[in-house]
Amino acid sequence: MIRRLVVLVAVTWPAASGAVAAALPGDQTIQHEEVRQVMGTLAAVRVWADNVPVGRAAVDTAFAVLVEVDSLMSTWNGNSPLSRLNRAPVDQWVPVGPDVCRVLAAAVELSRLTGGAFDPMVLPLVRLWRFQGGKATLPAAADLAAARALVDVGALAVEATRARLRRAGMAVDLGGIAKGYALDRAAAAMRSVGARGGVLDLGGNLLVFGVGAGREVAVVDPRHPGQLVLTVPLPAGAVATSGQYERFVTIEGRDYGHILDPRTGWPVPAGCSATVIASEALWADALATAVLVLGPEAGLALLERLPDVEGVVVVGGDILPTSGLMTTVPDQGP
Ligand code: ADP
Ligand code: MG
Repeated sequence: MIRRLVVLVAVTWPAASGAVAAALPGDQTIQHEEVRQVMGTLAAVRVWADNVPVGRAAVDTAFAVLVEVDSLMSTWNGNSPLSRLNRAPVDQWVPVGPDVCRVLAAAVELSRLTGGAFDPMVLPLVRLWRFQGGKATLPAAADLAAARALVDVGALAVEATRARLRRAGMAVDLGGIAKGYALDRAAAAMRSVGARGGVLDLGGNLLVFGVGAGREVAVVDPRHPGQLVLTVPLPAGAVATSGQYERFVTIEGRDYGHILDPRTGWPVPAGCSATVIASEALWADALATAVLVLGPEAGLALLERLPDVEGVVVVGGDILPTSGLMTTVPDQGP
């Protein structure tokens, strides 16, 4: 069973929300927000624009990009270029297009950077644990070992518009990075039609650009998803949160989260969340997944090494930020 419990990252809007265009006091800028279902989650897009037609066009173009990226990179859709790559005969180049190649190349880079904690070749393990359907049982040790042997980013070759897999049974899963890429592209598309600012929120990933200052992001407690543990200022840029409290399979009464440690083949334990702030949503998305796999110590050490990247790990009641993160712990009252 797979269920989705909470929105992991929420933004505190500077004004009232709703799918209506409204004038901001003392300004000619209008804002407009819409929420739609896309990429297996809810997406909210808010725009600041000089007039209503530009605002609506920006929101529509953003959703069109999200739908397009999903159609390119979903492994649930058997017709996506990524699914065609996963089905192709061994060693055969598959034309998957420039967008998929860009994300594949970034995923390979992230895999190297994280020592394999983030690995786009994780799909054989995802399937073994039945995160894509079927009756879940604990995998046998031999099956785990066989699936782990197929998680090898060195066997993925990527060129500008085509890719190939070097061994039978290998398969790519961009679920840990595609939402971030989709947000980066959607924001660029909004700007290109004249948006002056925007906030895009896609299932735990958030991107903020341009006018509409004063935003902060609230991080929720992984053990009590209704409670905020801290708020982080986000004037511009991206933030992503990964945690094992969002999608599960239940096996023999126990919940197993959907983020897998490619080094062991097992799901990362629950009760921890990783939030990463970066200028691009692609990086925030993939790094949040990686930090969750690496755990607090190695994960935060990785973030400290990266320029212009900050983050916070919440584990067992501890809030562990990177040294450059400005945080405010919310006043929970008496
Ligand atoms: P969400 O998709 O809920 O936003 P993440 O960004 O953390 O959460 O991505 C989790 C997804 O990434 C999983 O559903 C799976 O498709 C894929 N995945 C799982 N483990 C890994 C991993 N170690 N490296 C890369 N991708 C992973
Ligand atoms: Mg991710």
